[in-house]
Parts: sequence; structure tokens; C-alpha cells
Amino acid sequence: MNVIDVITHKRDGQELSQEQIEFFVQGYTRGDIPDYQAAAWLMAVFLNGMTDRETVDLTFAMAHSGDMLDLKDIAPITVDKHSTGGVGDKVSLVVAPLVAACGMPVAKMTGRGLGFSGGTVDKLESIPGYRTNLSEVEFKAQLKKIGIVLTGQSADLAPADRKLYALRDVTGTVESIPLIVSSIMSKKLAAGADAIVLDVKTGSGAFVKTQEDAEALAEAMVRLGSQAGRQVVALISDMNQPLGWAVGNALEVREAISTLHEGGPADFREHCLVVAAEMLLMGGKASDADSALALAQETLASGAAWHKFKEMVEAQGGDVDTIENLDRLPQARLIEPVPAPRSGHLAAVDAAEIGMAVVDLGGGRKKKGDPIDHSVGVIVHYKVGDQVQKDTPLFTIYANDEAKLAAARAHVLGAHTFSDAPIEALPLFYRRVTE
Ligand code: URA
Repeated sequence: MNVIDVITHKRDGQELSQEQIEFFVQGYTRGDIPDYQAAAWLMAVFLNGMTDRETVDLTFAMAHSGDMLDLKDIAPITVDKHSTGGVGDKVSLVVAPLVAACGMPVAKMTGRGLGFSGGTVDKLESIPGYRTNLSEVEFKAQLKKIGIVLTGQSADLAPADRKLYALRDVTGTVESIPLIVSSIMSKKLAAGADAIVLDVKTGSGAFVKTQEDAEALAEAMVRLGSQAGRQVVALISDMNQPLGWAVGNALEVREAISTLHEGGPADFREHCLVVAAEMLLMGGKASDADSALALAQETLASGAAWHKFKEMVEAQGGDVDTIENLDRLPQARLIEPVPAPRSGHLAAVDAAEIGMAVVDLGGGRKKKGDPIDHSVGVIVHYKVGDQVQKDTPLFTIYANDEAKLAAARAHVLGAHTFSDAPIEALPLFYRRVTE
């Protein structure tokens, strides 16, 4: 078989066979197929799509490109969650310790930023010393000891996804349903969780912009999970505006910690409680949705989730002093509150534009492997539907470079749209998708 034939086949809109897909995935994982050919193949998939059968074959080929973890000897049932990617999406930082504090083991391998969306690994690396490269042996040992792990994808787990994810980030091939399905589900299947909650974002700051596409994505992932014998629920959630207030790595860690202390933005806290409740229900820690939500609320209020977070940071080598004294997190040199240009009702806070502004400030990557600046970002002060007074701070920029700050100011101002007429607040969730 020849890689050029596989590329041209897809370029010409034809369906790839299982053998062609496995040949491509194995060849790219081994390094026999170079990035430039993989990039051409990704763009052909992006433009021509894949059938359900091709998507399933791609997912299984990617899942089996490395080890398949079996966690049964550690915990009879483990739960995981995954977001399809959003702006200000720091949900895992709160939900993982919250669920683990309820006695439900959480084993999560998480990713870096992708395009305008942030990644949990990048956020966690704002904490000095925090290791996101645990080996599988360390992963299992920590899960057994403290019931929670939040780490990057290990080198041996779905390596095809690790390589393709980084390549998609810099080749304009992120927003493709088959590529998102295979990326997420391959690593979830390989990571061994029995039950998985998928947070499928829709809106301007999501990779799928319409609710219709989000439903197609959610349904495909739920179907795939059940074919693989896993319990999967997908929650379709809003991503037209940033989740919470903070966008940017260290700023989001600070906001997540304040939420673990029962502060934080109301929308973000509510979102975390709903996702956590879903995980608790699937894991059998509650008998119905109301008691699952009540358990999540009580556990957050008791401080147990914060203690679990601290335990995890310590176990993974992170500096506990930093999370107890948040001024030790990376700090930007320039902090500028930007006043509202007019009074009115906020009609939109375009999440993708804010995500891009943070990437331009240095908080995300434009090329594979770019270093990132953990200290920069944006804090929005209003949500869609809020009434804003002219000249009060609309958002605050955290930057380390004057020119970048000026560019971000214009960019983020442009992301805010006002209306004279009242505007309804946006919902947090749209739909729950199950098998
Ligand atoms: N998250 C992933 O892991 N992969 C994607 O493609 C998008 C979001």
C-alpha cells in the first residue's frame, strides 16, 4: 500500500477501507509517514468528511496505536470526562477533584490547547513543578493511592492521537466531526474508564458552531462508546461566550481554585456541578439526578473537593504553596482594565475572538511545540444579557508586551456587542444525549 494513494483516495472524496486507515495510522505513529503527508491527509478528511464506518475504523485504529489501559485491578469502576474544547473551559480542574472527593475514582488524561481553545495540561503547568507526564505505572499507582489523576496523555497511550492532535492544531484541521470524534474517543477508550461524560460545546467558541452539528458529534461519540462497551453520556453545552470570567492559563487556575473554595463565577460553578452530578450518577454514587446534584453541592461546600485538589497537586509534584497563595502563580507585568465604550445590554461576547486574543497575547500556540506564556489572558466582567454602564470596566487584559496588549484591547472590544433592547441570558446546557 502507498500513502500517496491513501491521500488521493480521500482527496477525491472516496471512502477509505479499514486497511487503508490502519496503514495510515500505523505508518504515521511509527514515523514512516512524515508530517507533510499526514497534513495533506488531514486536510482531505477535513474537506471531504468520513462515513460512520470510516470514523469507527479511524477511532479504533488510533485507540490501538498504543497501550490499552485496564484499570479493573485498581477500581471496579472509574469515570472520566472530556470536553470537545472551549474558551474559559477549566471544568476538569474542579470536576475531577469534586467527583474523586465523593469516593468515585477519576482517572483522566487530558490535552493541551488546540486552536483558540485552552487545554487542561497547559493550565495545570501554570503550577510550578506540577508533572503532566506521568508514566502509566505512575498513573495507576496514584489512582490507587489517592483516587485521582489529572495528567497529560502518556507517550504509550493513543500515540496516533497525540501526533495528529498537535498537527491539526497548526494545519487548520481541527473543526472536523470525524477528526474530533476519533481524537476524543480513541484516547478515552485507551485510557480505560468505564463511564465517560462528554461535554460537547456548541457556539462561536466551540469547534462545532451549530447545535445540529453538536448533536451529530454527541450522537456519534455516544454510539461509538457503546460499541466499545463503555457507558457514555453527552451534555450539549453553550460556548457562545467564555465559561466563567477568566480566559488564560494561570488566570483560569486561580478561578478554578476560587470555585473549589465555593466562590467563582455562578455559571461556571453551576456547569461543574451538573457535569460532576452526571459522573456520580453513572458511577453509581447516587440513585437519581437530584441526589447526585445534592451530593456534588454538599461535597463542594464541605471543602473536600479543594482538599482532593491539593492532594493531587502534591502527588504530582506541584508547589502547594502556590495554590494556597495564588499571587505566586505566574503574573503578567501589564494589567489593564478596559472601560465599556457605551451603556447597554450585552448581546454577545464572542468566545472564539476572546480565545484568539489570548493566543495572540502568547497564551496559546501558533506553531507546533511553541512555548506559551501562562500569565497572560483576559477576564471578562459581564455575561450576555447583563446591563453594562458606559466607562465601567468591561474586561481586563493581562499582558507582557505593550503592542500585544493594544492589539488584544481592540480585539476583545470587538468581541463585545451591545443592544439597546434587553437580551436574554444564554442557557448553560441544551440537551443530554444518551444511547
Ligand atoms: N478535544 C480533543 O481531545 N480532540 C479534539 O479533536 C477536540 C477536542
